[in-house]
Amino acid sequence: MNDAPKISNLAAIDAAHHLHPFSDMKQLNAKGTRIIERAEGVFIYDSTGKRYLDAFAGLWCVNVGYGRTSIAEAARRQMEELPYYNSFFGTTTPPATLLAQKIASHTGGKLNRIFFTNSGSEATDTWFRIARVYWKALGKPEKTEVIARKNGYHGSTVAGASLGGMKLMHEQGNLPIEGVHHIGQPYWYAEGGDLTPDEFGLKVARELEAKIDELGEDRVAAFVAEPIQGAGGVIIPPDTYWPKIARICKARNILLVSDEVICGFGRLGSWFGYQHFGIEPDLAPIAKGLSSGYLPIGGVMVSDRVADVMVNELGEFYHGFTYSGHPVCAAAALENIRIIEDEGLVERVRDDIGPYFAAAWKSLEDHEVVGQAESVGLMGAVQLAADKATRRRYSKPDDIGTLVRNHCVENGVILRATGDRMLASPALTISRSEVDQVVEKLRHALDHLRDTVTA
Ligand SMILES: *Cc1c(COP(=O)(O)O)cnc(C)c1O
Repeated sequence: MNDAPKISNLAAIDAAHHLHPFSDMKQLNAKGTRIIERAEGVFIYDSTGKRYLDAFAGLWCVNVGYGRTSIAEAARRQMEELPYYNSFFGTTTPPATLLAQKIASHTGGKLNRIFFTNSGSEATDTWFRIARVYWKALGKPEKTEVIARKNGYHGSTVAGASLGGMKLMHEQGNLPIEGVHHIGQPYWYAEGGDLTPDEFGLKVARELEAKIDELGEDRVAAFVAEPIQGAGGVIIPPDTYWPKIARICKARNILLVSDEVICGFGRLGSWFGYQHFGIEPDLAPIAKGLSSGYLPIGGVMVSDRVADVMVNELGEFYHGFTYSGHPVCAAAALENIRIIEDEGLVERVRDDIGPYFAAAWKSLEDHEVVGQAESVGLMGAVQLAADKATRRRYSKPDDIGTLVRNHCVENGVILRATGDRMLASPALTISRSEVDQVVEKLRHALDHLRDTVTA
């Protein structure tokens, strides 16, 4: 336990000195920040002693749950032995090398090399550069354009925010940068019109073909997407979508990049999201669940196709971070993966708690304000609807999402809202009764929406 004296005016200090990510600081300072002090299992505790069931695993990342002393031990041991050394000049450290091997062992055969970063955003910048140097090394320096999706999320660096399809992020930074293009997202509920989900999946996948034709196949380096869009609202693509996308990338000879930052490390009941959808990416950024958030670490998993060129043709790749493969973070990630393996958490999500969660979550579809309640593994979304029959949505989606979220939080369950979609992404260790609590609290919040807002 932390014996430091309790500081009573932290909120005031925070307002005076701390600029928060993705926050309206004026609003936040007026309201005051919530101070989270400790956590155990799936529960977090704030400075008033109030307990919350964190159905969002921090920020999609605490896959093994809170309070894992063995990860702290692994980090401490490594910090005492060797707190830092780099991997730039012909050196490495045991945890970095062993972590690369460990990750590769779960990729299913063809992604055998890892380039380490400190975050998902840096992983995005890294594969973006790898995709371009790959084609250049193959004598195709004009293959530089990258296609991504509207409402995708790939991080907050300049490349990350550019590749992401978030309008508000673009507006604040004169983004996207040159060479980045966006196509539509497979969001059937909002954009599918009269098409069946499967028809719509094919339609939006064909936008990739059209965009490649428009730009010219010889100019396109890569297409990137999350297996399931996370921050965009847990948008689960129709079954037809991914196979068609994979065929297009193959036929047109462009690299397929699967952003595994959320979907990796068990979230969908597979080690990686691309395995769930049965596709084979050429590059795959990872972060979040790699260390369950205990320490910051990310990376890019690189296929043999790309790695062979990097290793044999490229010469030096002028790219790297001081902390690429940081030994303490790598040691924590190794212990995190050991836990996932030894406790069979991937299989648990696939065969046990995932199906249980799916059924409990789906039961919300009988609610008057729920248009759809879908999930894969432990990643779920509830689509709010003003009129279920016509798929009509509330006129102020952000407001009603916030209303439902706040109701949940006040009642001790942390969920997230993206617009009018309520999102859950709990630790892979969540119990059945904890799933029941989440669904019950969300149902109460939905009642509150129905009773207070006229559709
Ligand atoms: C969170 C996230 C990122 C960015 O990761 P950071 O560690 O926040 O930089 C990239 N891609 C996806 C899909 C994410 O969810």
